[in-house]
Formats: sequence, C-alpha cells, structure tokens
Amino acid sequence: MPLKSLTINGFKSFADKTTIEFTTGITGIVGPNGSGKSNITEAIRWVMGEQSAKSLRGSHMPDIIFAGSALRPALNRAEVKLVFDNHDHALKTAQDVVEISRRLFRDGTSDFLLNHHNCRLRDISNLFLDSGLGKEAFAIISQGRVEQVFNSKPEDRRTIIEEAAGVFKFKQQKKQAEAE
Ligand code: ATP
Ligand code: MG
Repeated sequence: MPLKSLTINGFKSFADKTTIEFTTGITGIVGPNGSGKSNITEAIRWVMGEQSAKSLRGSHMPDIIFAGSALRPALNRAEVKLVFDNHDHALKTAQDVVEISRRLFRDGTSDFLLNHHNCRLRDISNLFLDSGLGKEAFAIISQGRVEQVFNSKPEDRRTIIEEAAGVFKFKQQKKQAEAE
C-alpha cells in the first residue's frame, strides 16, 4: 500500500498548495530547522484522523491553519490530501487508488472526504484498522516517541502492543457496539 502523493494547502507553514510525489523506495525529506519537515508528518497524521491539537503542537485545532507571516496574511482554510496505491488491497476497499482529504475552516467546521465523497472520521479510522497505518499506529514515530514508549505505564504499553498485534480493532468494535 505505497503512498502516491501528499498535497498540503494552508496547513501550518504550507501557505501555498504543495504536492509531494512519492516514488518507489525511500523518500528522505531534508531541510534546515524550522523549515517544515515535522509539519509534513503532522499533515499526514492529521488527514488520517488525528484529533488531538496538542499532539500537533497546537492548543486548538484551528492552530494548524496557516497563521500568516510578515509577507502574507493568514488563511481561513487548511486542506490535506493523501493518495495511496491500494492495488494490494491492504486498505479494506475495492478501489485500487484511495484518496483521503480533510478540510478545516477557521470557524471550526471541518469535513473528511474518501475518494471525493463526504465521510465520517470513523470511516477513515476503519479504513486503516488492520493496515498497520493510522494515527495511533507505529508507521509514524515522531521525535520523543521512542522514549515515551519506554517510559509509559504498563497499561499504555499494552495498548501499543495490542494496536501492533491487531487486537485493538476488536476492542474498538466492542466499545462502539456497547455504546450503540
Ligand atoms: P526541526 O529540524 O527543528 O525539527 P522542522 O523542519 O521539523 O524543524 P517544523 O517544526 O515542521 O520544522 O516547522 C516549524 C515552522 O512551522 C515554524 O517556523 C513555525 O512558525 C511554522 N508554523 C507552525 N504552525 C504554523 C501556522 N499555523 N502557520 C504558519 N506557520 C506555522
Ligand atoms: Mg522537526
């Protein structure tokens, strides 16, 4: 399930629409401190459903919208689109190409799109369950996360292992069923 491309528009330091194409093999992103490397991984986590503004280094979600600079005014909207090559059907959908988008406006309204159709956050989360990807998965290890795993409480470490082992999905489904 390789990534094909990431398009960032109005998210954090990316005031201009920017598309990164991923070719086969390893992609490295290099740049000086503060140039936006971490913002790219945060954009990926955000479009996959991240709900915690704090884990995106903000205090509330609209902080992720481009806040303006000396040269240009703030924007009112952030949009991120991630495209997967799903020929191996690692994502549980019939489509060979899966495109997910998330938008957020400064007034707090937001939406998710799955292959151009409006969908719920839950649809996005379900898509990634069992795929090894997703906002809680270990496909993305940010600065400080390794120490966090080692220093976490046994119960929290168990959640991490359950996610990696695929048990987490069934716990989520049980919780949802109990709530409904
Ligand atoms: P390092 O090498 O230090 O880890 P980095 O390349 O990972 O740096 P980031 O942390 O991704 O850099 O980028 C930080 C930059 O993003 C800062 O200059 C900050 O001002 C800018 N930034 C963050 N949020 C916004 C926002 N909402 N609007 C505009 N700029 C933002
Ligand atoms: Mg960084």
